[in-house]
Amino acid sequence: MEHRFENSVAIVTGAASGIGLATAKRFASEGATVVIADRDTSKLATAVQAVEEAGKSKGRVWGSTCDVSQESDVSATFQGTLQRFAKVDIIVNNAGLMIFKALEDHSIEDWNRVLSVDLLGAFLMTREAFRGMPSGGVIVNVSSIHAIETTPLVAAYAAAKSALLSLTRSSAIEGKDKGIRVNAILPGAIDTPMLWTNPNVKSGKEVVLKVDVGTDEQVAAAIAFLASNDSSFIQGVSLRVDGGRLNHL
Ligand code: NAP
Repeated sequence: MEHRFENSVAIVTGAASGIGLATAKRFASEGATVVIADRDTSKLATAVQAVEEAGKSKGRVWGSTCDVSQESDVSATFQGTLQRFAKVDIIVNNAGLMIFKALEDHSIEDWNRVLSVDLLGAFLMTREAFRGMPSGGVIVNVSSIHAIETTPLVAAYAAAKSALLSLTRSSAIEGKDKGIRVNAILPGAIDTPMLWTNPNVKSGKEVVLKVDVGTDEQVAAAIAFLASNDSSFIQGVSLRVDGGRLNHL
């Protein structure tokens, strides 16, 4: 294993599960100090332990209770990281949720709930970063192939993930002057709780071939690439990590 993140401090949102947890472990295993930011306090202790084990980094992993849709939580996580570890080098805006409803059944609360976690959360964390991150900082936004192609019943999610690509573009333009790189990844079908609880997948309405299912470690590896100096001249891209699922006619 390479050690690209020695002396780096990374905040990963939604890191108590799935892709976020795999990313936090990958960062730790490559030497990073890691902040796990997730909304459910009861899941944090287990996640912290798993990431510490992955990185053999006791004392260099902090679990911060953070609902990314809440301005005060995001600020407390960012400022708490600065207080504990003196800096923030990497942010992964990964926290996300989906709801499954016909468009006409979406309430304003449904719409706002999805947009507030999947889009506003990334904006809030990016704003903190632009105010307090040094030149050389990196942000990776976790969007989805639903930003490009989508299925029925996920209108709010698809809209949020598309808008996250737009936020990535704007952040990359404004971040360039600050020396902050911002890129996005678009996972396809990834073997996490979010995939298998998807009612479209459960019902067979959305067919997911075994060959098109990736692992959270494969996505974490792509995030780690975009967070590392290996991608130092990459700015504002949207990288599909879907095993080629969208290539099919
Ligand atoms: P996951 O296993 O459900 O993990 C998501 C994590 O985010 C959970 O720990 C969840 O907590 C947390 N979270 C939800 N709302 C939050 C909030 N308001 N503040 C902070 N944390 C919050 O899902 P995943 O598959 O790893 O998804 C991670 C990201 O990848 C998401 O942005 C998702 O849209 C994207 N993605 C996933 C797939 C896939 O196939 N799995 C494909 C494309 C994109 P709770 O469990 O308590 O809700």
